[in-house]
Amino acid sequence: MSYQHHWLDGTRINLPVGKAVCVGRNYAAHAKELGNVVPDAPILFLKPSTAIVPLSPSFSIPSDRGSCHHETEIAVLIGQTISKIDVKDVFAAIAGYGLALDLTLRDLQNQLKKQGYPWEVAKAFDGACPLSAFMTPEQFGDVYHTEFGLTVNDQPRQHGLTEDMITPVYELIAYISQIFTLEAGDIVLTGTPEGVAPLAVGDSLVLSVGEQQFTTRVS
Ligand code: ZN
Repeated sequence: MSYQHHWLDGTRINLPVGKAVCVGRNYAAHAKELGNVVPDAPILFLKPSTAIVPLSPSFSIPSDRGSCHHETEIAVLIGQTISKIDVKDVFAAIAGYGLALDLTLRDLQNQLKKQGYPWEVAKAFDGACPLSAFMTPEQFGDVYHTEFGLTVNDQPRQHGLTEDMITPVYELIAYISQIFTLEAGDIVLTGTPEGVAPLAVGDSLVLSVGEQQFTTRVS
């Protein structure tokens, strides 16, 4: 399904669909559950624009490449081109906030990590980044104190508090901009809390952030 950025009310956002810049291990409890050390600096990786698909009403997962884990993450929509900016200039560059699933082929990723190879085939494949509609920063509220989560088939799976981020949102975006120019329409994925687990075809998901809920299913 072709993807365009949208607001909650369904209005199309007049920004192109760019790359997603993602951070690994931004919540200490999640690093621990995968047996990883908490890094000194953010671990960054990219998903191309071709990985981005609508979250709802359904999305699909690869069927023949081992387990595919959900990672529920706050997604930040970039509204203007930024390069090497200070933390104080980040706010003006943010167009909106939503939720994303950083879909991860975990068996494959573990195998690649063990061999010292890059992760792209486990993280950047077509459809690897289902993305919700966006809220304006005003609708979203204080990104330093936001609760979000995921239930799968009515069972709570993930629950996150943005105050637990090792590198918080503005600091993370300023850091990313030192390395990768962020362009209007790019997305930043801010890391997942603990509770990642495999998805199966037919699963019903509810992603929530504050009062906002997004329902979807794995098709
Ligand atoms: Zn992730």
